[in-house]
Order: sequence, then structure tokens, then C-alpha cells
Amino acid sequence: MRLYNTATRTVEEFHPHEEGKAAVYTCGPTVYHFAHIGNLRSYICEDVLVKTLIYAGYELKRVMNITDVGHLSSDADTGEDKMLKGAKREHKTVLQIAEQYTKAFFADFNKLNMRMPDVIEPATHCIPEFIHMIEVLLEKGYAYQAGENVYFDTSKLQNYYALSNQNEEELKEGVRDDVGVDENKRNKTDFVLWFTKSKFEDQELKWESPWGYGYPGWHIECSCIGIKHLGEYMDIHCGGVDNIFPHHTNEIAQSEAFLGHPWCRYWFHVHHLVEKGGKMSKSKGDFLTVSLLEEKGYDPLAYRYFCLQSHYRKPLEFSYEVLDQMAAAYEKLRRRTSELSAEGEVDKAVFEKYRSRFSEALQDDLNTSMAFTVFYDMLKEDTNDATKRALTESMDSVFSLKLLEPYAAAEVDEELAAFAEAKIAERAEAKKAKDFAKADAIREELLAKGIVIKDTREGTKWERA
Ligand SMILES: [Zn+2]
Repeated sequence: MRLYNTATRTVEEFHPHEEGKAAVYTCGPTVYHFAHIGNLRSYICEDVLVKTLIYAGYELKRVMNITDVGHLSSDADTGEDKMLKGAKREHKTVLQIAEQYTKAFFADFNKLNMRMPDVIEPATHCIPEFIHMIEVLLEKGYAYQAGENVYFDTSKLQNYYALSNQNEEELKEGVRDDVGVDENKRNKTDFVLWFTKSKFEDQELKWESPWGYGYPGWHIECSCIGIKHLGEYMDIHCGGVDNIFPHHTNEIAQSEAFLGHPWCRYWFHVHHLVEKGGKMSKSKGDFLTVSLLEEKGYDPLAYRYFCLQSHYRKPLEFSYEVLDQMAAAYEKLRRRTSELSAEGEVDKAVFEKYRSRFSEALQDDLNTSMAFTVFYDMLKEDTNDATKRALTESMDSVFSLKLLEPYAAAEVDEELAAFAEAKIAERAEAKKAKDFAKADAIREELLAKGIVIKDTREGTKWERA
């Protein structure tokens, strides 16, 4: 398995800490609002990563946190608390908001057919662990108290910028919000581990700590929850490119200072979903969610199919025009694969040939578009349905597009079928009467409705174009 590693900026052979096992961590959502489909693109690509590891035979454990406290609207500890913002907007408590949007997040997760993480841990469940880690960091001299908050001292590390420094572009993405000045900080890049006195006197959720009644900073969550469930060595840490700085940079700082040795070896980052002319913004146009796509008549899996057509390390340009094309291609594929018959013997040689080509494509830094090329080649292969069906089942364990599930014939289809049959009968009459112009006109009329007809020995057959 070869993977691009942000930490080294190269595609590397994957060697987990423990042979045959993969310890994977994913930054979960801050549950103050619905997830944007751009964020969900990251989770879809991570899902492909996870399923590729499983396909390759790794014993996998994936952990995800849920941020329900401490995440300010700027990742650099400034601005408003996101959870509080959500609660005010909807006149609810922070915990109600957290529950509501955690549910909504996993409903989307499900609709996009993603594998649930093995451990899902909300930050509010781990306060004693956070306090312990902060105590150790203070003891070791990596943290300090100022203005009754506790900060991480980034000047204590020589390689603080190791992850982010290597890519200026990604670094800029991370500091997009305006950085407010916090006079307690000794260095500009220092960050909060524990808040007590801050501008959020009205923070709803607070806990006792050695430094006073308060709440944790955002970054400490992932270090703590990751170490708690995956141990001192993590194999792959995932997230969107906007997490590289400051969030992942800070996670590394805390974890390695706490552990006293290197922590996570491979850093996997998914690029943004963009629209023509740049990054998607919440302010202009629709706030794109899975529910909105459904309201507009799209199958959420058509969006998954769309995401799989491009490489995770490239920005993906979203438009409804492209989504329409993708949805049509997905529907056509689904009709084709759901009709594959299971009868007959699987040709083992053909099965192995395609299985290994497919596996190679994915293990080459998740080349999903190549995996699709292999898949479409396989469908064209001169072999029986049973073999194609077995291969579809195998490959769909990664694609997760429900390719073998019966494709629901919608009512519209019944109407379309009746229309096609009537026209075919009319055309047969015309041909009998040697009115070939009319027969051709009917063929054109059907084509305009997306129906292709074929004259066979058994009579005229029709299918969707
Ligand atoms: Zn995180």
C-alpha cells in the first residue's frame, strides 16, 4: 500500500507500527450545524482509505472524536465558540445542539454508505483525560499559565512547523480567519489547552480543574482521544487540508511533548470541494447539505460516486451540471449491475485478474478513478454474469455504491415503459404500411425521451439511452 504522507510530502510505502494492523484516527465534526457536502467529501475519501486497508487485509481500528465543546470560530482560538453560536441560533442548550447535530451527521454518514468508526468519543466525555494530559505538559515545561488560562508553549519545540511548513499553500488555508491578539500568549502560535477566564464567561459547559472552573481547548481533544483509544503510536491521522495548520500541527506538538517520542507516522489530507472561481463559501448560494441534495432529487450515493471519480489530493469542482452527469452515469451503472445474474460458475482466473488490478489501483495512493476504469473494463469483459457479479460485489465493498441492490423501478419508469411499448406498436404498424418516414420519426421521438430501440429477431426491444 502506497500513500501520500503530508509529513514527508512524498508517496510512501505504508508500514504500520504493528504489522497487519492499522490504527486510524479521524477528526470528527464540530456538531453545531449540518455538515456541508464539502466536509463530507473528506469523510468519503477517508471511508475509501479505511475500506481499502480492510480490502488489503489489515486489521483496522478507527477512532473519531465529536467536538461538542471548545472549538472557536477561528481555529486559532479567537472568535465565538461554535457550539454556543449554534445554541443561541436555535434557542437550545449546547447539549441539545450537540445531540441534534451528532445525529444529523451520522444520518448523512449512513446515507453516504460509510463504515461507522470503531470508537466515537465526544469531547465532553473525556475531561479527566484532558486535565491529566495538561498536567503532564505543565510538569514537563511545555505549557504555562497566563491570565488564568493554560497555554501550550510552541517555542519549546524545534520542529513545531514540520507538518505545515512544507506547504505554504496549505498553511495559508489554515490561517484564513483573522487572528485576534491574545496578550497572554508568549508566542503568536501558542494555543489554549484550558480556558478559565476568557471572553466566554457565559460558556454553558464548564468543569472543575486544577486551574479553575473552565473548559478545554479544541486541539487537546484529538491528541487525548487518539492516545486513549489507539495507544502511543498511531498509524494514520486523517482530515481535510484545512486541518493541517493549526489543528494537526498542534496535535503533534501536544502528543509528542506528552509522550516523549514520535506519535503518528502518516498524515492523510483530503483537498477541498470548490466551485468555479474558488473555494465554496457559506455566504453565497445554497448551504449544500445531503438533505438539500435529496430535496433536489439526487440520490446521496450519486454524490459519493461523483467524489470517487477524482483524486482526493486534488480540489474537486462542484456544480449541479456535473452532479447531473454523475447522477445519470451512476443510475445507468446501477441498472446494469443490479441486473447481473448470479447463475453459473465464477471464472476464477478472470476474478483474480480484475481483483488484483483493482487492488493495485487503490493501493497506489487511492487511485479511485483508475479503480473505476478497471471496474468498467471488467463489465465489458467477455465472461459470464456470475463472474461479473462476484467482482462487482468484491469491488463494491470499497466503492459502497449499493451496486447489487435491486434498482427500484420508479413509477415514472412504468409510465415510460407504457409509452415505449405503445410507440413501438405504432411503429410496427407504420412499417407494415411501408410508411418508413413515420417509423423513423417514431424512433427519433423515442430517442428524444431517452429511449433507444433495437430490432431483433424476437421483435423490437427498447432500453434507456
Ligand atoms: Zn482533530
